[in-house]
Amino acid sequence: MDTPLNIVIVGGGTAGWSAAAAIAGIVSRNVASVRLIESEEIGTVGVGEATLPHMKEFNDHIGVIEADMMQQANATFKLGIEFVDWGFKGSSYIHPFGVHGQPIGGARFHHQWVRATQSGHETNLQDYSYPIVASRAGKFDFPSKDQNQISSTYSYAYHFDAALYAGYLRRFAERRGAVRTEGKVTDVSLDGQSGDIASVTLESGEVVTADLFIDCTGFRALLIGETLGVAYQGWSKWLPCDRAVAVPCDRLPGKLLPYTRSTARAAGWQWRIPLQSRTGNGYVYASDFISDDEAASTLLSNLDGAAQSDPRFLKFRAGRRVASWQKNCVAIGLSSGFLEPLESTSIYLIQQAITTLLTLFPRKTVDPALRAEFNRRVDLEYDRVRDFLILHYYANARDDAELWRYCRSMEVPDSLLEKLEFFRSTGHIETYTAGLFTPASWLAVYVGQGVMPQRYDRQADKQPLEEMLGEIRKLRAQIAERVDRMPSHGVFVEDYCPSNDVPAAIAEAVE
Ligand SMILES: Cc1cc2nc3c(=O)[nH]c(=O)nc-3n(C[C@H](O)[C@H](O)[C@H](O)COP(=O)(O)OP(=O)(O)OC[C@H]3O[C@@H](n4cnc5c(N)ncnc54)[C@H](O)[C@@H]3O)c2cc1C
Repeated sequence: MDTPLNIVIVGGGTAGWSAAAAIAGIVSRNVASVRLIESEEIGTVGVGEATLPHMKEFNDHIGVIEADMMQQANATFKLGIEFVDWGFKGSSYIHPFGVHGQPIGGARFHHQWVRATQSGHETNLQDYSYPIVASRAGKFDFPSKDQNQISSTYSYAYHFDAALYAGYLRRFAERRGAVRTEGKVTDVSLDGQSGDIASVTLESGEVVTADLFIDCTGFRALLIGETLGVAYQGWSKWLPCDRAVAVPCDRLPGKLLPYTRSTARAAGWQWRIPLQSRTGNGYVYASDFISDDEAASTLLSNLDGAAQSDPRFLKFRAGRRVASWQKNCVAIGLSSGFLEPLESTSIYLIQQAITTLLTLFPRKTVDPALRAEFNRRVDLEYDRVRDFLILHYYANARDDAELWRYCRSMEVPDSLLEKLEFFRSTGHIETYTAGLFTPASWLAVYVGQGVMPQRYDRQADKQPLEEMLGEIRKLRAQIAERVDRMPSHGVFVEDYCPSNDVPAAIAEAVE
């Protein structure tokens, strides 16, 4: 039998500690040991606070207790993302973590909805999504487990303090045997024959060897990029935003909203992430279209409460490594690639890569077939997210700023163009089994950005129009009535996972 695989993770941000927690939580110690090296002096990227529903699955899988994690990470629930001013100025839609309506008369709901609008009945698609109606009302409850109920048609994610979440995972991993070393890696040595990473040397002089290295060093990509020289494929021509400025602000007493907001601005977009104790904010922008000072001043003049610190600037380039697993080094997190946080996909990509690594877990000598399959799956995930993000920029009708005119006329990947044309001409949405996003997500963004199909599924016509209209009206009323009975998100959070960091004035005024 093989001796345990000796794994060294370099980097202790969300990526490093997610990897350590998952390996320590799931893999038996006679199969692998984990050591994580991180440098407090270098620190973490310090952003990354909005997530996708897959995180609940990841946490559940490795054994994280939800209420405990939420309480300690200042977390709130998230039912989707609101996009303000994206399709055109004055527009607003929510991309929910759930479907719109339920099949009616043998056809998918949205086909009936298109049929209703084409026959002159003005209806808003958003009114048929349970999580959207709940979001707008500031309500939250767990989804019903009864699949026949409309209140089962959604899932949820979290907003949290990234540093507190990483700290939570660190304690979790250490309790399960992961060993942490404080220190800066100053040198990396390669094996002369295989080209594998043989060891990393710390500033203290300690030399650390391993069978498998996981590069979680963030944008530095110390192992995969600097040492192994794996190239970075840039996607800036489609996703021109290359900077962000971030600042937390006070949370005002009042409703705690269960969704992230993304507001389109002249040269990018601004995020707003509601936590229990504060609100996270940032402006993601394209430096070709605005200066840093202007971006910061736009951000500061569009906060809900007083800024809690000076704005912090970050630089990045959209894209991914051409291979995330090279030799005996697996890059996870920002070292493997970056896609702007418009759809909160980075932590998803991290945890998905970890899950894939656990599925394709290597022996001491890495089988090239495992590596190739890992890279294929990771690449696919990135490419799918890329297309979805580009859609938000491409399908816009804004004429007020250069960035939006550029995006509307840029050439987009064929993989996106084909999906878009298919929807436009038939009303059908391409489905795939691996990778984000589901047809429900594509539908929300297509319609939200103003892309309307010319036709709908012919099967929808089986049902008489008046009968179908009656059913969709009934569905809308049923959703409104059920949401009305839900608890407010603020009250739910205070009951389920109250953080100790919430200022007294806000805790007392919970709505
Ligand atoms: C503006 C912005 C907003 C974002 N918002 C979201 C969001 O809302 N949702 C989402 O899912 N994601 C978001 N992300 C992405 C998210 O922040 C990252 O995916 C996540 O934090 C993981 O980062 P990381 O662990 O890869 O890197 P980092 O947090 O940068 O961690 C790197 C680690 O490596 C260590 N390190 C580096 N060099 C060395 C060395 N030489 N020796 C020892 N240790 C070293 C550092 O000390 C640190 O511990 C956002 C990113 C940006 C830039």
